This record gives sequence, structure tokens and C-alpha cells, in this order.
Amino acid sequence: MNGSCAEYTQPPMKNLLRLIGSLIPTSCILCNRYQANTTCEQCLQLLGQQALNTTPCCPCCGLDLPITTGGKILVHDQHCSHCVAQLPYFDLSLSMARYEGLLKTAVHQLKYHRRLAYAMGLANLWNSLMKNSLMQLPPAYLLPVPLSRQKLRERGFNQCLEITRHLTLPKQLKLLPHALRRHHSNFSQISANRNDRQRALNGLFYFERRYIDRLAGQSVIVFDDVMTTGSTLNEIAKVLKSHGVSHVSNWVILRTPRQLVDV
Ligand SMILES: [Zn+2]
Ligand SMILES: [Zn+2]
Repeated sequence: MNGSCAEYTQPPMKNLLRLIGSLIPTSCILCNRYQANTTCEQCLQLLGQQALNTTPCCPCCGLDLPITTGGKILVHDQHCSHCVAQLPYFDLSLSMARYEGLLKTAVHQLKYHRRLAYAMGLANLWNSLMKNSLMQLPPAYLLPVPLSRQKLRERGFNQCLEITRHLTLPKQLKLLPHALRRHHSNFSQISANRNDRQRALNGLFYFERRYIDRLAGQSVIVFDDVMTTGSTLNEIAKVLKSHGVSHVSNWVILRTPRQLVDV
């Protein structure tokens, strides 16, 4: 899992495996019906209708913007009132779906039940539903949110890295799987208040030295499976910006409403 720290390259067998996979029926990661793809046509259509990028969202934190009864979107200088009050270190957040929607079970199957095939299914969904985000990108580095070494030993894999491995990336976007590291912490974010969470996150993330010069002045995309309060991603963006990264975007599979806690 820790392997080489070099940029990730596509496995040579990937196309062959994809071809073999397309000939064998697989179950949809949402409805479990056997058919040809990791998500069936009906579920894909449903997810497309519910995708967060189809509704007006704050570009910074990715949450729905409040709409008045008259249909007017409440926005201040392109940000929601929360981001205006406390501007995050990250510049942009793009989320595929709502936490309370159809994909929650699929993410839990991957994360807590070691169903690694779901990583490919979730990546295929991103490739399909978020293809505009993949096409119109300036050169950037993609960093999956890391687990601590201890957590990695417990779980056996990093779900964010497993999903990003299967994204179809344009050539200007380079996956750096091991540039960002995380110390271990026993602190549980569940039920913690904002100040305690912020204190616990302070100093938790760091860069591998060899990447510091390379990332200065560059755009970086941080990939996470779930974004709740945004505290974790904000702490990562703080570290990135302190090393001279010029622009930080978040790519997130599931976005929760702000009042929920991290999982
Ligand atoms: Zn389905
Ligand atoms: Zn916002």
C-alpha cells in the first residue's frame, strides 16, 4: 500500500481487465442487480438527476445555496453566508452527491465492509457524472486524503486512494498518492464541537519533503470520500497553502449538510 512515492501510473493490465470485466456480468453498486456495468442504467439516471452539481451550490464549500420563496438564490460575492463569515483555505469544492442520498450505502460498503470493487464503481460514477470537471481542468496534482499508518494497517487500504486509482484522469492531472501524510490521532470527531475538532486537526497533516518544491505555485485537488463540516479539508488546504500551493479544490463523493458530524 505504501509502495513507491512516484507519480501513479496506470497498471499495464488495466485495459485488458476492463475488457474482461465488460464480458462478465457484475452487480450494480446501488441496486445489486446483475447486468453489464458497475452501475445500472436506471440507477445512473437517478443519480444524475440528484447529483449536487445540478443545483445551485456555493462554489467554495459545495453546499446548496439557500433559495427564497420567490426563487431568488441567496449568494454574497459568489459565496454562501457561512463562507463569507469564515473564508476557508480551499478555493473550490465539487461534490458528486448528497450524503443522505443513494450512494451512502455504497461508500459504507467500501469503507467498513472492505468491498474494494465498490471503489471502481464509485470512480466509474465520477467518470460518468462529473466528466465536465475532468475535461476543463488546468494542470493540477490530485492528492487523496491519507489515512495514518496505523489506520491503514487496521483497514488494509485507503478508500480515497482506491477510488482515485480508477478515475480516468486527463493528462494534465497527475495523481500523487503519497505526497500528503497524516499522523495518527485517537481523537474521535463524532460529537466533537467545532473548536475541539479544529484543535485536534492542527498539525495532523504534513508533506513528504521531496514534494514540497514541486507543489509550490501549483494547483492541487484534494480527493475525499465524505465532506461533512469541511474541517479536515480546510486543515489540508491550510497546509498546502502554507507550502505555496496557489489553488486548492476539493473533490468529494458525498457532501453532508453542515449540521452533521464527520464519519
Ligand atoms: Zn442499479
Ligand atoms: Zn460556502
